[in-house]
Amino acid sequence: MAFELPKLPYQPDALNPVISAKTLEFHYGKHHQTYVNNLNLLIPGTKFENMSLEQIVLESDAAVFNNAAQIWNHTFYFESFAPQASQKLSGKIEQLIIADFGSVAEFKDKFNKAAITLFGSGWAWLVINQSGKLEIVQESNAGNPMKKGMKPILTCDVWEHAYYIDYQNRRMDYVNAFWDIINWEKVNQRLS
Ligand code: MN
Repeated sequence: MAFELPKLPYQPDALNPVISAKTLEFHYGKHHQTYVNNLNLLIPGTKFENMSLEQIVLESDAAVFNNAAQIWNHTFYFESFAPQASQKLSGKIEQLIIADFGSVAEFKDKFNKAAITLFGSGWAWLVINQSGKLEIVQESNAGNPMKKGMKPILTCDVWEHAYYIDYQNRRMDYVNAFWDIINWEKVNQRLS
């Protein structure tokens, strides 16, 4: 079964100016597509051939893991967005953030620190940990917290390809702006 690049749930210019159409053209159109193409070349004739993407992420390592996890991570990341200011942080996710981090401001500060201090390429994640609490974790390269039994709720891609066209080396500006396009309704759906 060949994997396909999932369609984006918005127009390429919908996330302007936080993420430009040019960034999506490369990040989604080229990088995300390449992980799909690579996985489709790697799995025929292997035990992964008929697995779901999530199963492959959980059971693989090395090149198969890197490409499968990057497909999963990017799909999850791109599906977290909606046009700027169309969504408000509310509902169950807001209650859990306040319960587990004290306030929305403290949560965002901790998440931003995780995203900004991650050395090299990787992902900052908001997860439900094995104790059922929200937790912020860093993962390098293609890392995915499902491998550690945690449930992903939100992620920020801090590979340079995620922000270099729009922000050059200013990762902090990208991470700060990231909050303006989060689809909180989608995030709330992930809690159930
Ligand atoms: Mn990326």
